[in-house]
Amino acid sequence: MRNLVNLHINTENMPDEKGYFGKFGGVYLPEELEKVMKEVADAYEKFSHDPSFLEELRELNATYTGRPSPIYHAKRLSLAAGGADIYLKREDLNHTGAHKVNHCLGEALLAKRMGKKKVIAETGAGQHGVALATAAALLGLECDIYMGAIDVKKEAPNVSRMKVLGAKVIPVTRGTQTLKDAVDAAFEAYLEDPINQIYCIGTVVGPHPFPMMVRDFQSVIGTEAREQMLDMEAQLPDAVVACVGGGSNAMGMFSAFIDDKDVALHGVEPAGKGLDSGLHAATITKGKEGILHGTLSLVLQDDKGETLPVYSIASGLDYPGVGPQHSYLHSIGRVNYHPITDREAVEAFYVLSRMEGIIPALESSHAVAYGVKLAQELGKGKKVLICLSGRGDKDIDFVMEHYPLQEYEPEDNIQDEYKEFIKHIGGEKN
Ligand SMILES: *Cc1c(COP(=O)(O)O)cnc(C)c1O
Repeated sequence: MRNLVNLHINTENMPDEKGYFGKFGGVYLPEELEKVMKEVADAYEKFSHDPSFLEELRELNATYTGRPSPIYHAKRLSLAAGGADIYLKREDLNHTGAHKVNHCLGEALLAKRMGKKKVIAETGAGQHGVALATAAALLGLECDIYMGAIDVKKEAPNVSRMKVLGAKVIPVTRGTQTLKDAVDAAFEAYLEDPINQIYCIGTVVGPHPFPMMVRDFQSVIGTEAREQMLDMEAQLPDAVVACVGGGSNAMGMFSAFIDDKDVALHGVEPAGKGLDSGLHAATITKGKEGILHGTLSLVLQDDKGETLPVYSIASGLDYPGVGPQHSYLHSIGRVNYHPITDREAVEAFYVLSRMEGIIPALESSHAVAYGVKLAQELGKGKKVLICLSGRGDKDIDFVMEHYPLQEYEPEDNIQDEYKEFIKHIGGEKN
């Protein structure tokens, strides 16, 4: 068993030695990089069973990140929704404000144990870059972050944060000058010096061992949540909900519940401006099998196999691929995946803020939106646990500018109860 931080992890013991979850996953890379990945996989195998590594990670989680994050019973939200009881796993309360710090600390600690001087990574909106720059500062590592030149301009506050934390931000000026080009540039830089540097991927994607390793570091979410639900309510939740970009917070949450066959698992994908609009990033709902960034998984692509441009209001969900374990769990029907539009996510953003005094990240708002629908479907007496992956401070200005509350009317196609619910919230405090 891979017992990183006492994992209560799926007994199917996935992935296999070559990094496959069923037919998904693996290592699809040029030969030179394959060797580099093998080195990382071997080191991870060693340190993930090393008590002193696990103890150091456990201590940082507790004293630096602030773990365990609480589970909060959202009573007012549950009452307003009029169905199942809703619980929130508060990853938004972690240092740096989201779940990404969980795997960045793990990756940076591994880099240090491997004797690397520098961690490198790509970043889109800058959230992963900031979390990794934080871990690098903490552990005294150099940090290079590759970022599309367009994103560098768009995401000025996060660029400043990374610089303050001591990271070097390297603008990538080729291609579309966004995330995909940043990944390519970071991989190339990695190949130039795999001895002194290590690539720290931002989610459960990429070649083996990254989907496994990032999942294991994130599994602390699910392990804690499972115990906390048993402590608080003496039972497991009936359903668990998490948003899926690449899928790291969701895999971290789901991994502890996969063996609990009575616990339904739901992943939530960004439907953007609608599944037929071409402006979405609903990879599982709309994707086809393909290889992206060194792994076989579902990918949003055209008929010729070219990766499609993607869109979501939540930049953390804006990725044309998805972790291979999600594709696998989808293929065997263990996890159900559901699309949520920008608009539904914004409603949830306002609803949670007003009902509970918790401003969620727009990414997490997707999970909240589906979780509320599900609570209504399941009805009273049931329990729904939602992973609140991050806080929404970063999104407030954008939402106020583009979705001001005064002009706010839900779309007609949203189910009636939900609409009533939104109106109720709006009416109560406006
Ligand atoms: C990056 C991010 C996500 C999406 O990443 P996953 O790997 O799918 O978890 C979700 N929520 C927040 C707050 C993020 O910053």
